[in-house]
Amino acid sequence: MSLKDLLTDELYEEISKEAHDDGIAPNKDSNGQITVACPICHKTVVYSSDNPFRPFCSQRCKLIDLGAWASNQRALKGKSITEDDDAELLDSKDLVKYNIPDEE
Ligand SMILES: [Zn+2]
Repeated sequence: MSLKDLLTDELYEEISKEAHDDGIAPNKDSNGQITVACPICHKTVVYSSDNPFRPFCSQRCKLIDLGAWASNQRALKGKSITEDDDAELLDSKDLVKYNIPDEE
């Protein structure tokens, strides 16, 4: 198992928990990518750092959700995953600092 697989599995667990709270079900597609249903329009979205709007399909849906937050239709349910932090970690060259062996 490579480091990338490990992080992806952890991320998958996190997403699974949060998605369960939100009533959406994450899946892994045949490429090992995590997909979720957009919470707003329910379109299938790849959940990765390539999608800046995740778990939403588009800026439009993200803004709709933001609007829902702003009008108090949604409330905090404890600590949520910080998607942008995760993405930075996955992309970060700082990973080298921790000297994690590459098991490829
Ligand atoms: Zn959407």
